[in-house]
Amino acid sequence: MTDGPPPKKMKHDLRENKANIMLAKAAEGGYGIPGVCVYNLEGILATVRAATAKRSPAMILLFPWAQTYSQTVLATAAAHAARTAPVPITVHLDHAQSPSAIHEAADTGCYDSIMVDMSHHEKEENLRLTKELTAYCHERGILTEAEPGRITGGEDGVQDTAELEAVMTSPEEAREFVATGIDWLAPAFGNVHGNYGPLGINLDYSRLNAVNDAVGKEVRLVLHGTDGFTPEHYEKCLKGGITKVNINKVMNKQYTEMQREGGYGLTELMEKGTEKMQEVVEGVMDVLGSSGKA
Ligand SMILES: [Zn+2]
Repeated sequence: MTDGPPPKKMKHDLRENKANIMLAKAAEGGYGIPGVCVYNLEGILATVRAATAKRSPAMILLFPWAQTYSQTVLATAAAHAARTAPVPITVHLDHAQSPSAIHEAADTGCYDSIMVDMSHHEKEENLRLTKELTAYCHERGILTEAEPGRITGGEDGVQDTAELEAVMTSPEEAREFVATGIDWLAPAFGNVHGNYGPLGINLDYSRLNAVNDAVGKEVRLVLHGTDGFTPEHYEKCLKGGITKVNINKVMNKQYTEMQREGGYGLTELMEKGTEKMQEVVEGVMDVLGSSGKA
């Protein structure tokens, strides 16, 4: 035995992170992982049941709203559902917009990945905070996602940045963000949160391809703002290197529409709402090609 220094405390190996493995397989197989934005237990169940029925990997996405509203209750339920599912499922915190929200979430042990969304800050500050918060998450075995440029629009449960002008991501800017140590990058190439408005969906695929050429070997590209997408939109985005595809309203509106219709008892609303949301998620899995990949 030699008298060397005591062995260093084992650091988390991020390559073993479940979400990292999931997206690596998706990139290799040319399919997309649905990142399902959920707000309630029904959304969690709908995602897990769809994934199980379709033998598809999936991600459950929560917003910091879930922490404000339920403290750790929804995140714990999502993490439990993910751990006990018969297919690979991970839990992601989407659009975490303050250092305190990120610290709190990282410390719960519920999340496999966190979106460090500092896009409301000026670029220098955005880059500085992204680097610092990514290091915090990595020390805890959690991957991070960031958004260079700014994806415009508003999403339920996210601080509204609609008044801030959309800024498209350039390959140079993508490189600057990758240098902060992030694992996934959400490019802005004409994608919009929420409604696309009267002009419809107008995506700049050449920009997406240029970003992919610049950083696609170092990070995974992920997609926000898919409301109203057709299979053709998804296909072109997957070809441009996208591996995680966030969906929100297409699923959650099933539930809110049933509530608006009215006439359902509470358990009936919950059960039928879960079924309807599950159907939509299954359809998305077929379109993204993740069905049968778990
Ligand atoms: Zn988003």
